Amino acid sequence: MPDGSIYDPLVDKHPGSGSPYPSSYWAREHQVAPVEPLKTVRKTQVAVIGAGYTGLSCAYHLASRWDIEPVVLEANRIGWGCSGRNAGFVLSGTGRLGLGDYQHRWGKDTAKLVYSEFRQGVDNIRYLAEQGPVDCQLQDGGYLKLAHSASMARKMARVTDNMRREFGDTSRWLTQQQARSHILSPGVYGATLTPYSFGINPLRMAENLAAMAKNAGANIYTGSPVTDWQRSDQGYRLFTPQGEVQASKVVIASNGYTLNRFHPALDGRHFPVLSSVLVTQPLSQQQQQACGLTPGPLFMDSRQLKYYYRLLPDGRLLFGGRGAITGKAANHPRYQNHLKRALAAWLPATRDIGVEHFWSGWVSVALDNYPRVGPLEDNLYAAMGYCGAGVSFATLAGQRLAETIAQGPNSLPDLPFYQTPLPKFPLPRLRRLGLKAFYHWAQWRDG
Ligand SMILES: Cc1cc2nc3c(=O)[nH]c(=O)nc-3n(C[C@H](O)[C@H](O)[C@H](O)COP(=O)(O)OP(=O)(O)OC[C@H]3O[C@@H](n4cnc5c(N)ncnc54)[C@H](O)[C@@H]3O)c2cc1C
Repeated sequence: MPDGSIYDPLVDKHPGSGSPYPSSYWAREHQVAPVEPLKTVRKTQVAVIGAGYTGLSCAYHLASRWDIEPVVLEANRIGWGCSGRNAGFVLSGTGRLGLGDYQHRWGKDTAKLVYSEFRQGVDNIRYLAEQGPVDCQLQDGGYLKLAHSASMARKMARVTDNMRREFGDTSRWLTQQQARSHILSPGVYGATLTPYSFGINPLRMAENLAAMAKNAGANIYTGSPVTDWQRSDQGYRLFTPQGEVQASKVVIASNGYTLNRFHPALDGRHFPVLSSVLVTQPLSQQQQQACGLTPGPLFMDSRQLKYYYRLLPDGRLLFGGRGAITGKAANHPRYQNHLKRALAAWLPATRDIGVEHFWSGWVSVALDNYPRVGPLEDNLYAAMGYCGAGVSFATLAGQRLAETIAQGPNSLPDLPFYQTPLPKFPLPRLRRLGLKAFYHWAQWRDG
C-alpha cells in the first residue's frame, strides 16, 4: 500500500495476503499466534470466507454442535478486519434502528422478539468470552449513552422509560447530576445506563473464538485470500494463492472488507465506511479524577456522528468516531486531529495527553440501516450490514448461519434481518459522494 493508505474494498483488487495487523493498541498489547496458509487442495462440507467474529462463530457452532469440520479461509490474520480492531463495546443491538423503529415498522410482537435476540447476542458473547481459553479482559461497568443536548435528554428519558415498560429492559435514566458521577464532561445533559453491557479486548476475543473453533474441529488458514471461485456440480471451488477448497456450501463472512464485485448477489448492496479510533497515553490518577472516569463503563454520545470512549484496564483512554472516506486518506493526520479535538471538547482534562495509537477499519453499512443474515442462493450464505455495531451481533449471526446450514432456512427466527436480502443502493458509484454530503449535514445538525 502507498504510505499511510490502507486496503480499500471499493478500489483495490485484492484484500491482502498475510498483511500485518494495523498498528493498534490491541495488536501491540497481545501477540496472536501465527496460523499457516492453505497449501493443498481440501474438500469440505462448508467453506467460510473471513476469520472475524461472524466466520469464526459460524465455524465454531458448525463444528461443536453438528460435527461439521468447516474450512475457514482468511486473507490476512485472525481478526485482522473489524473484529480485531474495534472498540470492544458489547452492546445489545446492531445497525442504526432503535427498538422503537422496529415497533413502528413491524409491530410490537416483532420488536419484542428483536429485543430478546439482541439480548441473547450479549449473553452469548459473555459465555464464549468466559468459556474460551484466551483471557478476553472483560470489563463490567455498563454502557452510558450520553445526551448531548437538553432536548435529546428529554427524548432519551422517554425512550428509556418505554424500554422498561414495553420490553422489561433494566436500563435506567440518569439525570444530568447523576450522569456526572460517572463522567465529568461539560457536554452531558443526562444518560441512559444499560447495566448488562460490558467491554472486551476485541483481538483477544477473535483469537479466543478461533481457538474454540479449532478445538471443536474447524480448520483455519490465514494468509489465504479467496481470489477466484467457481460453481461446480458438487458446490463451489474456491482458489487461494497456494491452494484450493472444494466445498458443498460457502459462507461469505468478509463483511465490510468484501471486495467490490466479489459476488453478484452482494454488488452495490452494502457500503464500506471507515470508523477510526485513537488510544492515549495512560491517564494519571489525577487526570482520571478530573474526568470523573474509572475503568469499566462504556460511553457513547447521542449525536448523528457519534463519539465513543472507554478507559482501558491500564488507564489509557480509547476514543473513536468517524474516519476518512477513502482507504488512501485513512491515516492522514487530519482525522487523528479531528478525534483529538473532539476528545478535548468532551473531556477538557485530556487536552495535553499524548496519542499513542490511531487506526481505522471498514464497517459495512446497509441502505436501510439494519443487517441481513442468511442464504443468498442455494448453498451460499452471507451476513453483513451491521453498520458499525457488530461485536455481539456478528457472533450471534455466525451462530444463526451455522443453524441454517445444518437445519435449513426454516430454523432462522422470523425477524427482519433473517428474512430478506440487503436492498441495493441507488447509484452505488455515488455512495462516497453521498457520504461526504451526509457528513456535512450531520456536522451542521450536531452543532
Ligand atoms: C474502529 C472500529 C470500532 C468498532 N467498535 C465497535 C464496538 O465497540 N462495538 C461493536 O458492536 N461494533 C464495533 N465495530 C464493528 C464490529 O467490529 C464489526 O461489526 C464486526 O467485528 C464484524 O465482524 P465480521 O466477522 O463480520 O467482519 P470482520 O471482522 O471485518 O472480518 C472480515 C474478514 O474477512 C477477510 N476477508 C476479506 N476478503 C476476503 C477474501 N476474499 N478471502 C478471505 N478473507 C477475506 C478480512 O481480511 C477480514 O479479516 C467497530 C468497527 C471499527 C472499524
